[in-house]
Amino acid sequence: MYPVVAEITEVFTAGRSAATAWKMALAGAVRDPDELVDLLELPPETREGARRSSRRFPLVVPRGFIGRMRRGDPRDPLLRQVLPIGEEEEEAEGFVADPVGDRRATVLPGLIQKYEGRALLVLSNACAVNCRYCFRREFPYHETPRGFTAWEPAIRQIASDPSLNEVILSGGDPLVLSDAPLERLAVALADIPHLKRLRVHTRLPIVIPERVTEDLIGWLRGTRLTPVVVVHANHPAELDENCGRALERLVEAGLPVLNQAVLLRGVNDEADTLARLCEKLLEHRVLPYYLHQLDPVRGSAHFHVAESRGLEILADLRRRLPGYAVPRYVRETPGAPSKVEIG
Ligand SMILES: *Cc1c(COP(=O)(O)O)cnc(C)c1O
Ligand code: SF4
Repeated sequence: MYPVVAEITEVFTAGRSAATAWKMALAGAVRDPDELVDLLELPPETREGARRSSRRFPLVVPRGFIGRMRRGDPRDPLLRQVLPIGEEEEEAEGFVADPVGDRRATVLPGLIQKYEGRALLVLSNACAVNCRYCFRREFPYHETPRGFTAWEPAIRQIASDPSLNEVILSGGDPLVLSDAPLERLAVALADIPHLKRLRVHTRLPIVIPERVTEDLIGWLRGTRLTPVVVVHANHPAELDENCGRALERLVEAGLPVLNQAVLLRGVNDEADTLARLCEKLLEHRVLPYYLHQLDPVRGSAHFHVAESRGLEILADLRRRLPGYAVPRYVRETPGAPSKVEIG
């Protein structure tokens, strides 16, 4: 059983009082497509596609995130990110299992290095929410290490490569793991003299804001490494009051917080929506970082937005927002030495 799930089960059997709020929210996330359809009173015709497409890539969505969606609206922009639909089964040219070349950039199991100075650890095989457009929806997570000892080869590899100065904790979502093992890892990384920064790529503060605990802030602030938190929100409706407060707590603790979004048809492919997202991020002291062109992963073609349209939207954003609030519009090209700026 995957460690997080084992841990959650343990917490539940040990008695509910021992569970922290975020672990309860994670364990209680909706995983049954019928339950999601019922909760949101979606039209009956959504049921079949949801059942079918969740078999290939399971549905996972926390209840607090569902609470930010409109009832009875299958086109709700938050729902669209998480609801399995029949279109996912359609083959589309150029949409493949590994669109970003993760496999060939894998140095050791769970350790991916594409860019100078930066190495990425695929720390967990799970997320608090399964985004239907995820570029890692077919990632071979079963090949990645589980547990601290299993990570030792990757840590040794990082230690033996003085060209590295930054480690990115990714996944899955690294913050589905508890703070104690994460802190232990941060300590091990801080012992490597050539490392300068520790970056966390996570959607947890958005979908389960309770994840921003004192312990999390504690180990992020406590490390010698410069911490950077990169969250992932695509639509202004994701940033409700709880989420906004969680982001502000990170920032108030002195942690730089950036956002990356993915340009998604039917979710945020309007300048107005993205401008509101950027404004709202700023309101909560978060800077927009990247707007990613969709990675062509199998099953996500219905989210595709043409780059020409993306460029129009960006021009509109540049006109409406201060320069620092306009995200960089980028594409990931396998083999390229960095993310590639579009336009
Ligand atoms: C995106 C990515 C990074 C980070 O790139 P930045 O441009 O520094 O944000 C690092 N490693 C891998 C494998 C990535 O996919
Ligand atoms: S949170 Fe990130 S890694 Fe997880 S499913 Fe969504 S896009 Fe993929």
